[in-house]
Amino acid sequence: MNPSPCLALRGIRKVWGGFTALDGIDLTIGRGEFVCFLGPSGCGKTTLLRIIAGLELQSAGTLVQDGRDISRLPPARRDYGIVFQSYALFPNLTIGQNVAYGLVNGGGSREAIRRRVDELLDRVGLPGSEHKYPAQMSGGQQQRVALARALATSPGLLLLDEPLSALDAIVRVRLRHEIRALQRQLGVTTIMVTHDQEEALSVADRIVVMNGGRIEQVGTPMQVYREPATPFVADFIGKCNRLDARAEGGGWYRCGELRLPAHADVAHAPGTPVTLFLRPEDRRLEGLDGLDPATPGLCHGRVDAIEFLGGNCLATLRVDGLAAPLLLQFSLNQMDEFDVHVGAWLRFALRTDRLRVFDATAPAGAS
Ligand code: ATP
Repeated sequence: MNPSPCLALRGIRKVWGGFTALDGIDLTIGRGEFVCFLGPSGCGKTTLLRIIAGLELQSAGTLVQDGRDISRLPPARRDYGIVFQSYALFPNLTIGQNVAYGLVNGGGSREAIRRRVDELLDRVGLPGSEHKYPAQMSGGQQQRVALARALATSPGLLLLDEPLSALDAIVRVRLRHEIRALQRQLGVTTIMVTHDQEEALSVADRIVVMNGGRIEQVGTPMQVYREPATPFVADFIGKCNRLDARAEGGGWYRCGELRLPAHADVAHAPGTPVTLFLRPEDRRLEGLDGLDPATPGLCHGRVDAIEFLGGNCLATLRVDGLAAPLLLQFSLNQMDEFDVHVGAWLRFALRTDRLRVFDATAPAGAS
């Protein structure tokens, strides 16, 4: 069941002088969803978030939140809480006063505000810190305070503008899981801007992949990873092999000396140049012994280099009949089992069912 829409953006465009920062943004966000705007620097994700917040006025287009047209509303009359990369806490106010900031004009009693501040500091894992000052807290703690402050008025929308990028790697990973858990508990519709693919894949219900002021794809983390809609998305999210090939007709493609069948969304006339995309894990090593050597996707290659990534490794192979090197991923157990080492010859089969085929003329992504 689709959640009811919380926010609908239609035809959003932003032009500065002669420069178009956003063009034709259409997007609907469901109530309770956690959505990430993901894309390279300058693609327009912060501009889009600021337009949603009313901190920037769109040049064209409409925004509807909870059935109300907010296109021209000033920020103070919109219903959201926001967290910036830079924490943006008031240094001369205590943590308690920072969190209470949005509540003091709300008409609640001092006691009610104190209780709400206590509850929020509990929720973000900082109980008892209301009398401290921001300078006495770490970056991660300050960002939790900023989160508590953003949530204080129980907004309908939580906007997070790269909230984790100023933090070190360990704190960043911990805090992103905490934010996600808190978001689930509260059910607050959340939009987070990030340029970190792993971060978006690990927390989002849906990812909006942006490039050059446009949306390339909107999908679940699994969809944008497994079924990238464009070469840009395939390149930008995760590691990818790009293979130059030519269509042979009937869903077959020739890549060097390999003939590969691929399920393509678009039929390509014979001779059409295409690019095939394949993830490094999309290969089989087991059960190849009885196979006819002419089986499509069966390969023989030599390991040229191995990059250790922690739980697994990325090997670069020189493959018979292929001009370009191929990246293959192995778990550490597979490394042992198949004796993968530099100089080893491996027999493997490409998962041709996972090949994505794009016109070679489609714009290249930023890898
Ligand atoms: P980053 O990850 O680097 O913050 P971003 O995807 O959030 O990038 P934006 O900050 O939204 O990108 O900027 C989009 C484009 O608009 C950029 O080319 C930027 O230089 C331009 N831009 C942003 N703000 C302004 C402004 N006030 N005046 C003119 N151009 C601007």
